[in-house]
Formats: sequence, C-alpha cells, structure tokens
Amino acid sequence: MDSILIKNVLHKDAKTNIFIEGNRIKAIGVPSDKNASQVIEADGKAILPAFYNTHTHAAMNLLRGYADDMPLQEWLTEWIWPFEDKMTAEDVEKGTALAAEEMIKGGTVFFNDMYFAPERIADVVARTGIRSAIGITVMDNHSLAEREVKAKFIRDWKDTTGRMMLTVAPHAIYTVGTERLKEAALQARENGLKLHIHVSETAQEVKDCIAAHGMTPVRYLDSIGFLGPDVIAAHCVHVDAEEWDILAERGVTVSHCPCSNMKLGSGRFPYELAIKSGVRITLGTDGASSNNNLDMREEMKFAALLAKVDGDPSILPASMVFKWATQNGAEAFGIDAGVIEEGKIADCILLNLNDVQMRPLHNLISNWVYSAQSSSVDAVICNGKLIYGK
Ligand SMILES: [Zn+2]
Repeated sequence: MDSILIKNVLHKDAKTNIFIEGNRIKAIGVPSDKNASQVIEADGKAILPAFYNTHTHAAMNLLRGYADDMPLQEWLTEWIWPFEDKMTAEDVEKGTALAAEEMIKGGTVFFNDMYFAPERIADVVARTGIRSAIGITVMDNHSLAEREVKAKFIRDWKDTTGRMMLTVAPHAIYTVGTERLKEAALQARENGLKLHIHVSETAQEVKDCIAAHGMTPVRYLDSIGFLGPDVIAAHCVHVDAEEWDILAERGVTVSHCPCSNMKLGSGRFPYELAIKSGVRITLGTDGASSNNNLDMREEMKFAALLAKVDGDPSILPASMVFKWATQNGAEAFGIDAGVIEEGKIADCILLNLNDVQMRPLHNLISNWVYSAQSSSVDAVICNGKLIYGK
C-alpha cells in the first residue's frame, strides 16, 4: 500500500511526524525513520485540513472578467447565459481544468459543481486528483431529449476513483417549475444522490416567489417536500428567522458565498440568524465570473469580515469560519475528513510558515484566515495522494 511520511510538521502547536497509509491518516507521532513510499520534509510547515468548496460552477473560469459590476438578473440573462449557449463540451473541460488547477493550488480538495457536460468534468477530476460532487443540472428549458441523456448518465454512473459523486442540481426556483423540482427530488432520492440548488440569493427572487406561490422560497421548497438532509442550498441570503428554523429542522446544508453575494450586490448573509439556528454552514466561491477567483482562503476572510460589518466584531470568529470551510464541507458530503486526526481520510495541506504574511505565529488559524495568502499552500494531499507540491 502507498504511504507518505510527513516529517517535522507543525500540528497543534508541536512538531511531529505524520504517517499516511492508503487514503487515511494512519498515525500521528511516528518515529522520523519510519519506512514510507514517499517522505515529505516539512520543517517550517504546518499541516491543516484542506478546503471543501461547496458551491461553484468550475467551467465559468472561462468567463472570468467577462461581465462585472451589474445585478444578478441582468448579468445572467444578458451576458452569462448567451455566452454559455455557445460553449462546447470541450470548452467546459478546459474551463474546469483551469478551475481545478486554481483550486488545488489554493488548498481546495473538493468542489460541489453545477454545470453541464458532466462526463468532461469527471475526466478533469479523474486526472487532477481533486474530488468533486458533479451536478446534473436541471432547468425547465432543457428538451426532453436532453433530460433523457441526463437520466441515462445518472443510471450508468460509476465512480472508479473514490473521489467523485453526482448530485441532481435544479438550478433555482425561478428556472425550474414545481413539477420538475419534485421530479428532481425524487430522482435524487431514488438514486441516493444529493440535491444542489440556489436558494433565496436575491430580494427579487423572494418577491417573485411570493407573487407566484404566496410564500417565500424556503417555505415553498418545504411545502413541495424538497428540503431534507440531502439538500445543499447555495446562498440563502434573504431567509427569515422562521425559515432558518425550517432549514435546521430539515437538516439542510447551506453554502455561503460571501464574495459572490457582495459582488452581485445580492445582500449580506444573515449570520446572526443562520448561526443561531444551528444549520450546517459551509463556504463556496460560486463561479469565477461572480467572484472572480476560487480562493477559499479569501472566502473565509470575506465571510468573517462581512459578518462583523454590522457592528459585532465577536461574531464569526476565525476558528468558526475555518470549520465552515473545512470540516463542515466534508461532513455535508459524507467525506470522512476535514480534521487532522488518526483514522480520518488524508485530505490536507501544508502551509509555509516562513512566508512573511505568516509571521509571527501567535495563532495559526488567525493567520490562515486573516493574514495569509493562498500561495502559502506548499503541498496538497487529497485522498492520501500528494496532488500538488512546490
Ligand atoms: Zn451559483
């Protein structure tokens, strides 16, 4: 079995040697001469869990800088969708490859994607060593033939890497009608897949939902039986206290995307209500055209700062937002990782502590959230394999 020995690495305030065997952290505190198929000298480096990006559209890296500084509806309908109509499966593969490279170099080992050409995305995931939940997108404007191709893809799907899963991904309540939302939920549940959807991203979406269905988006989704512990709801910016309780009760995971919400002027995530409700909160970058990068370290800092902007600097401390970006993301997708502990799957990063933004080292997590740059990521291990190293 393949193994990695990480020598002299800083882990919880002390230097130690960590032994990875197969895809798991086998032992922490082994002798420095332990036999391993690969040895990483990590003096001057710290080990931390890697990032799980729980909402993105990876291939949108091709649209970076293409349409900035406008509201969501105009941005989507006049710029993004017309561009995407011209994209081929090959374009999706190229965009996803760019995104995977960017994410890996920034310490991300997993992305929850929503796009098209899933077979091409799977190719990129297989060859780069990253993990992904690949969304099979549902929109009302898909033809019957397209829907049949997608259903067949789900039926025939087999992951041979141990790093991929599919999700059923109805885009949003304003692009997918009630019947198709119900069908998507049924299709996901029959196939044991998670559901991935944009929810209450803008005030307009809430207003339109009330006009169409007489209730807000979370209540509407609950009324049609859509919500459950298998649902990943992206954004949830305009969600009231009672709706947060509904999300918590149904066990929904929320993917908070602070950069995208700020850039599109969608609003401030209601941190106070979300945290109080006990909902599992994770972080996502959204696509590169509304961010404009896929840097999860930046996402942690923006979330922590946006939380505090209304006057309470104690809300969302560094340790909490770090947990959102790591452990909570892994848990949401049933990946037995997200912490550096014996027995856990080895999804981890090594950080260069000699970088100027990392010094002095009063508090590693504080540095990682507030002062570091993602270029301090020196090595990335995903599923027990070194997939990036400087
Ligand atoms: Zn999105």
